[in-house]
Amino acid sequence: MANRNNPTHKDGYDPIALTRAAERVVVRGNKRKYARLARPLRFYGGITSAQEVGCNLRCKFCFSDKPVRRPHSTGRFYSPQQVFNALSKEADKHGHKLISASASEGTLGQEHLFELLELVDDSKYVFVLETNGMTLGHDRDFALALARFKNLHVRVSIKGSNKKEYNNLTGAISDSYDLPFKALDYLIDAGVSCNACVMVSFSNKSSIAEVKEKLHDVWPGLLKSVEFENITLFPKVAERLANANMVPKTIRHRGKIINVNKGGFV
Ligand code: SF4
Repeated sequence: MANRNNPTHKDGYDPIALTRAAERVVVRGNKRKYARLARPLRFYGGITSAQEVGCNLRCKFCFSDKPVRRPHSTGRFYSPQQVFNALSKEADKHGHKLISASASEGTLGQEHLFELLELVDDSKYVFVLETNGMTLGHDRDFALALARFKNLHVRVSIKGSNKKEYNNLTGAISDSYDLPFKALDYLIDAGVSCNACVMVSFSNKSSIAEVKEKLHDVWPGLLKSVEFENITLFPKVAERLANANMVPKTIRHRGKIINVNKGGFV
């Protein structure tokens, strides 16, 4: 039987196996499931975003509930052209140049994604690909294939500041923590515009220093654009964290970052 002293020990689920399982539910030919096609968001000074269905992680702090946890019964299938049409129409209404898909994992369904990015490349918009980096870090060719798209920026989101934190937060195998760093390495090598963001609500100063060093090792320039994310305690998130006996150190509340212990939220 595998144990912690055994290098084959698995301390969680495999996000790559979960990728394939999720794709069986949310991808059909060149179509992908979406819960909603286009809504304006305030990030990056204004962006129009579709709400995808299906993810290959199960972060306990995730605000996206049904699209991640109930992909079978959530959303409908749409072609890349339908998604692009809805995004561009809504973006024009709000004067946005940036469009994206969010609330799930952006790299599920390669065929759908590539066709969507081709449409974006022939347009005035820039697509922000939101990913947790699992698939791109696992498949170098996938990351390199993104280099042909010019109107693309990839935002790689890292869940926690070290392997242990990541394992607690996501329930995934600790070793898969390295995949988003590999993804960034491949993307930078291929000349794809990208940046990293790190979920730090459960981190302390020394683990944040640790993740910064890891990013520095990939490419020092990543530290200039890195974003540090804090969770928002939506009721579902609070319930999930309470069930897991997890207390965040910092949260985002009404646009401000609150230190939970000092701010009296416990
Ligand atoms: S990777 Fe993102 S969408 Fe997927 S479970 Fe984690 S926070 Fe939610």
